[in-house]
Parts: sequence; C-alpha cells; structure tokens
Amino acid sequence: MSANDVIIEKNYYNGQWVPGSGARLAVINPATEQPVGHFHEASAEQVDAAICAANAAFPAWSALSGSARANYMRKMTAAIRDHLDDLVQLQMANCGKPRSEAVADILGSVECIDYFADQADALDTQRQTPIEYDIPGYRSSTRLEPMGPVGFILPWNFPMKICSWKLGPALAAGCTVVIKPSEVTPFTDTFWGKAAELAGLPAGVLNVVNGTGAITGAALSEHPGLRKVSFTGSTRTGKSIMKAAAEDVKNIGLELGGKSPILVFEDADLDLAARLAVEGVFYNAGQCCNATGRLLIQESIKGPLTEKLVEQYNAVVLGTPDTPDMTMGPLASKAQYDKVTGFQDIAREERLHCVIGGGRAAAFNTGFFVEPTLYDDVPRSSRLWQEEIFGPIMCIRTFVSEDEAIIEANDTEYGLAASIVTEDDERAERVAAQLEAGHIYNNVSVAIPPQTSWGGFKQSGIGRELGPWGLAGFLEVKTVTSRD
Ligand code: NDP
Repeated sequence: MSANDVIIEKNYYNGQWVPGSGARLAVINPATEQPVGHFHEASAEQVDAAICAANAAFPAWSALSGSARANYMRKMTAAIRDHLDDLVQLQMANCGKPRSEAVADILGSVECIDYFADQADALDTQRQTPIEYDIPGYRSSTRLEPMGPVGFILPWNFPMKICSWKLGPALAAGCTVVIKPSEVTPFTDTFWGKAAELAGLPAGVLNVVNGTGAITGAALSEHPGLRKVSFTGSTRTGKSIMKAAAEDVKNIGLELGGKSPILVFEDADLDLAARLAVEGVFYNAGQCCNATGRLLIQESIKGPLTEKLVEQYNAVVLGTPDTPDMTMGPLASKAQYDKVTGFQDIAREERLHCVIGGGRAAAFNTGFFVEPTLYDDVPRSSRLWQEEIFGPIMCIRTFVSEDEAIIEANDTEYGLAASIVTEDDERAERVAAQLEAGHIYNNVSVAIPPQTSWGGFKQSGIGRELGPWGLAGFLEVKTVTSRD
C-alpha cells in the first residue's frame, strides 16, 4: 500500500475515510503544471462532524496517562518512517522541493513528534505541582489540564513539518485535533490520518478535513466547538482567524511569517557569511517564514561580500526535483509565482539596482521557476525591503555602526527571526539582546530544532511553538487552593 493510494480524495474523521461533499479541486505539480491528484472539498457540515468527533473523543484521550499517549505517538512516527519513500515522492511532486529538502521535512516531523512523545511521558510526573508559599492555613498546587479539542490551519511551504509542531504538543497535552491542510499541498498532511489509523489511535482523536480557506478553513476557525485554533500563514489570514476566535474567546496561536534581517559585521568570516545568507534565502526556494531576505552589510566589507554572494548565486542549479544535482526547484504554486514575479516587476518600476537575476527563469517553458535575484542599495521605503516576498530574492543595505545596524534590523512590522554573522562573541550577545525577534541565529543557518522555541515578536504572531513553550500552548493552568 503506498501513501498515494490512501490519501487522494479523502478526509479522515471519527476514524473513517470520507470523501468531501464539496467542489472537486486539482492539486498541481509546480514543476510541470500538471495535476498531482484531485480531492473533493470538505463542507462546513463535514467540518462540524469532525469537530464533534474531536469533542466526543476528548474525555477518554485526555484521561490517558502521558506515557499511554506517547506510545500512540511513537506508533504514528513508525508508520511515517514505513512510508518515508512514498511521502518524500509526494512532497517532491507537490512542492517542487529537492529530494534532500523533502526528506528533511518528513524526518523533521518524525523528530518533532518523537520529541513531544518524550514530553508526554514527562507530563505524568509534572501535571500536579505544589506552589511554595507561607500563608498559615492555606496550601496550593497547580494542575496542568489539556485545553480541549483544537484546530490547525496549515500552510503549503512545509507540509507535515509545520503540522508536527502543532500536533506533537497537542497530542502530548491530551488535546484532540482537527487538521486543515493547505489546498495547495493537501496530500502529505492528510497522511497524518493514515498514521493515526495505523497507530490505532481511538476514533476522533485526530481528524483531517481538506478544502479551501474560504469554506473549510473558515468553518473551522469560526466553530465554537474548538478551544484553540493554531495557524501558520499570512498576516492577513491570521488577522481574520483572530477576529473569528474573538466570537467565543478561543485561544489562538499565530505564526505569521517575517522579514528577517541578516547582519554581517566587518569581523565576520566572509565565506561563512555568504553561505549563510544564501542558504537562508534559497532553502525551499525562499518560501520560508525565516528567509534571510534583508541583508545588512557593514560598509567596509560590502565589495568582497557581494562578490562571494554572486559566486553562490551562480552555483544554484534550478531544476525539477528529479533533475540530478538540482539545488532549487520552482515556487509551490501559480499564486506564489505571480506574487514573487510581481515583486521583480515592482523592482523594475522602482529602478532598483539588480546585481543578478531579476526575472522569470527563461530556460523553463513550464513550471513556476524564477531566477534567484539580488538587489543592491534598496531604499528603506521600497516594498521589497518592507514586505514578505517568500521567494529567492535578497535585498542589500549597508550600515556603518553597530547601533545603526540594530535600528535598521528592527525597522519592520515583523519580528520572527534575525541572524548575526561576527567573530566577536561579545558583539553577538550585545546585538542579540537588542534585536526584536523570536529566534536569533549567530553564525549558523536557519535551523529550527524541536527543543527550541519558534514564534514572533510584533506582527509575526502570537505565542510560541516547539520546546516546553509549545507544550504549554495546549495546556491550561489550574490552581487548587485548600485549607490546611
Ligand atoms: P494564507 O495565509 O492565505 O493560507 C494559509 C492557510 O490559511 C491555508 O490553509 C489557507 O487555505 C487558510 N485560509 C485562507 N483564508 C482563510 C480564512 N479566511 N479562514 C481560515 N483559513 C483560511 O497564505 P497564502 O497561501 O495565501 O500565502 C500568501 C503569503 O502568506 C505568502 O506569500 C507568504 O508571504 C505568507 N505565508 C507565510 C507562511 C509562514 O510560514 N508563516 C506560510 C505560507 C504563507 P487555502 O488552502 O485555501 O490556501
């Protein structure tokens, strides 16, 4: 049985595979522009049925010990490992990713669920904690309780991996879940339903509904039967999910992307700096919420660093995922291609200085391929400096002093991630303390280990995923105060 056989055209709720009752939608291979498959959209009534199933399953699932839930979670990751090759093939076909990146996505999701299975084990001894105080006649303790049934609305840039950041802590905490994958990349995320089935999860603990944001996503975010909606995607959609949550005061988790700076100081190792900057904006063809799209270079090293950047740009091999030695694929969808090439058009209108790239990739007649692009001396007022592009486009500005670099770096409505490249550890610590971002990288690339935290300052979102903070996001704190 291949992953492909079990996931096309179906939703999974209350332990059953159910075809959507709505419109038939095509899922496109971005390298060929041909359908990878189709699915029928889940209606609002089907979303309601999935949420009812999650509510019915909640009492028994939340009453299990953490280690019992951890056992189910480890069986799910075993099922994913058993289907690794099929899932990688699907991820490559649906997202246009190089094989190494598709493998990293799937195995990253396994690593994350396994990490949170360990946290579920640990919850058995942490769920009730005495509070230390000295008030005669009183004693208090806290209990950690699962929030309840929760919903996830997912993006298309890292299917499975981003879901695992929400699913791992939610299942570990004792929550039941309803997952809405992106309509652009529904299939590998739908495999969570198969993994749940193969692991023997009780019916209703994990449910998947496929469809568009307008119908399936809105039905989920507006539903009063969920205690939290956790969302990753655009700031615009995040705001509408926040408004919907206000209606019944649902908890929300929002991861809304960014416009992450990378600051290169004159004492940096320039080879390392060029590699980090380029990796940060080329990984997944730049479709990363932490892409290093704003490069701030100390003026004295601009010439030599720009030369090294151009070398790295010239080494990129654009291609379909099955092309040997390809290092970058197409953008994931026509909509994203139009958005990114639209920014290249704006750059021409604004007469930005294009160092390399700047257009559609002429070598490809089909597929959503764009040239990796580097703009220099980009004015602060430019839309390319201010807005999230989500493609392989990097913009350069320079700074003279450390203070100026920090002001420039923080001059954005976003605050997800920021990178520092310097050989001076004291400088790194000083600058890290002043940057307004949820994750600071110092001389490393844009890795996100599950033990660390993920989430943003300012309009990059609300709440933190991963690590103990991710688990806390699915637990309510209850204090019990008693008379001695
Ligand atoms: P969206 O924010 O529109 O989509 C993310 C998810 O939200 C999808 O599942 C989408 O459904 C769903 N959705 C859309 N509208 C609603 C709604 N009203 N109610 C509930 N759910 C909804 O992102 P886009 O795909 O349009 O990408 C646009 C831009 O967003 C990108 O160019 C990038 O800048 C940013 N982005 C950031 C990401 C990040 O990692 N932080 C990830 C993806 C995008 P549907 O299936 O219909 O798309």
